[in-house]
Amino acid sequence: MKKQYKRILITAALPYANGKIHLGHLAGAYLPADIYARYQRAKKKEVVFICGSDEHGVPITITAENEKTTPQKIVDRYHELNKQTFEKFGMSFDNYSRTSIPLHHQTAQEFFLKMYNAGILIEKKEKQLYDEKVKMFLPDRYVEGTCPKCGAEDARGDQCEKCGTFLSPNEIINPRSKITGETPVLKETSHWYFPLGKYQKRLQDYIKEKNEEDGWRENVLKYCQTWFNEGLQDRAVTRDLQWGVPVPIAGYENKVLYVWFEAVLGYISSTKEWSYKQNHQKWREFWLSEDTKYVAFIGKDNVVFHCIVFPAMLMAWNDNSEDKYVLPTNVPANEFLNLEGQKFSKSRGWGLYVDEFLEKYPADSLRYALTINLPEMRDSDFYWSDFQARHNNELANTLGNFVNRTLTFVHKNYNGKVPAIGKISELDENFINEMRKAPEIIGNLIEKYRFRDATLEMMNLARLANKYFNDAEPWKTLKQAPDRCSTTIYLCLNAVKALSILFEPVLPFTSKKIRKMLNLKDNYYWDDASELSMKSGEQIGEIEILFNKIENEFISESSQLMSEGPVMTQEVMQKQTVTIEEFKKLDLRVAKVIECEKVQKSNKLLKLQVKIGNEIKQLVAGIAQHYQPEELVGKNIIVVKNLQKTSIMGIDSEGMMLAASDQNGKLVYITTSTDIEDGSIVK
Ligand SMILES: [Zn+2]
Repeated sequence: MKKQYKRILITAALPYANGKIHLGHLAGAYLPADIYARYQRAKKKEVVFICGSDEHGVPITITAENEKTTPQKIVDRYHELNKQTFEKFGMSFDNYSRTSIPLHHQTAQEFFLKMYNAGILIEKKEKQLYDEKVKMFLPDRYVEGTCPKCGAEDARGDQCEKCGTFLSPNEIINPRSKITGETPVLKETSHWYFPLGKYQKRLQDYIKEKNEEDGWRENVLKYCQTWFNEGLQDRAVTRDLQWGVPVPIAGYENKVLYVWFEAVLGYISSTKEWSYKQNHQKWREFWLSEDTKYVAFIGKDNVVFHCIVFPAMLMAWNDNSEDKYVLPTNVPANEFLNLEGQKFSKSRGWGLYVDEFLEKYPADSLRYALTINLPEMRDSDFYWSDFQARHNNELANTLGNFVNRTLTFVHKNYNGKVPAIGKISELDENFINEMRKAPEIIGNLIEKYRFRDATLEMMNLARLANKYFNDAEPWKTLKQAPDRCSTTIYLCLNAVKALSILFEPVLPFTSKKIRKMLNLKDNYYWDDASELSMKSGEQIGEIEILFNKIENEFISESSQLMSEGPVMTQEVMQKQTVTIEEFKKLDLRVAKVIECEKVQKSNKLLKLQVKIGNEIKQLVAGIAQHYQPEELVGKNIIVVKNLQKTSIMGIDSEGMMLAASDQNGKLVYITTSTDIEDGSIVK
């Protein structure tokens, strides 16, 4: 017997305020969470849907230093930007908070003190790398040096990008401080640790129980099992850093709480913020009650924090307090979405940012294409061709077409009024049955977090509706059997209404438009989709086209959003200090442009043939908006000759041309002050 809950608490992973939201993020946590929240609201459940920016941690302080600004400026920028992007995408958060606000700091400190005072935390003394010049301990990413595994010279204190090994700063060979480039010394420091291992047995029981109750995903259970097999270890709760939640005890003035510890508590502080804004204490009902079903939506990289670390922290609190927090009932983590067969990568410039995408295409089309491709069981891919096909064939030709032909018929033949229902034929009966079943079938799939399958069922109903319209042939029965015709159209109007309800979790903007066309209010109940509740004689609204077809030309233009990622993103790249040896690895040369032409279907790219001594190389450069091809022919430019060959829009590029942005954003090519022979080495 399934437990009946009074209310549902839904959280979506807090995005890190150090970059923009891309399509992979949406497919991981946000879109599934939003579909679930919208459905539960339509079921008239008491729901709160919580999110916010995760604003602490070392990557943010590093970005701030690179841009010569403050961490606060960085998080202000991305918090605002991502918040707006989520709104445009139709995310229906009840609250979108941020972890740099005092309310969050208080909440996190309260948790720390509860554990500290209960004697749960363990203090350990350890040696940590220290930069004597700036007098500070170096957090992992502030240390660079040689990887002990593969010998790469640019390994970071937390990980070697070359071989992927996770590292700790003390393992790095020949460590350097990222701030000064100096060799750091080992100095003693102390930190508080959370004894995660002590909770292992209880965590295993907890996951087993919730899995039996609510059916956890196989992949999530597998990740957890891997952690359990390795045995859970103590985790440091504090670290030496200035930016973050201060550790509220004496002797720890220069330290903050580790992000893993405080970020998950952002769900609680965000719910509090929502509550306080409305002068109520409802956050307590949601968080401190056994009657709450808590569903935490995340991407697979967050499984350990939400299935193991966060529940253990809540257990530690609950053991020592009258107030008992609810633990996640389920953590439906998705795998990763890839882009045209390759992983999203900020450093490689391979990405598709949501704000840029939404400047060209409607949010609902993206929501639909992503939902039908959600990486629920395994990694999946976003392909432009698939996006176009889904939009054109399913949204425009199936859903849009059915709504349009039905409403057009009503305006043309019934003066825009809902016709009367007459005698029901077998054909009608079958169609009514399909409509009756749909809300439950789709609802059950959503309850089981199977959003892809739910969406297939939604579109299936639109397909059946089109088939019913075709089979019933109202354009023939209009004259021959008016009673049949009005019955057909009456049922079709009810199907349009049903589609507006059932598609709402995936297509909220479209649903709103359909309801406006039907002259219906937005406040409805999910199960009303199975009722023949349209009232005969009532006037419907004006018709609006739901989806315009997307043409091939437009798609190939748009695909540049991604293939020219580094040009499109105005973000300052994170630059690390390099040694002279590292610099010498670059083969910079003077090259002469001998041919130059535009790349077809691109308004950003030029294709160049350049002569470097006795070699000819082909380059693709994103400068077509700044130069006409003929302006470059005969000119000396500087190129990176030994850059790994790549393909841009299907054209090989065998090096890179250097250019600089002027104050107006115009890209200016770099040249030599005298006409030096091509092939000359730049050093
Ligand atoms: Zn390595």
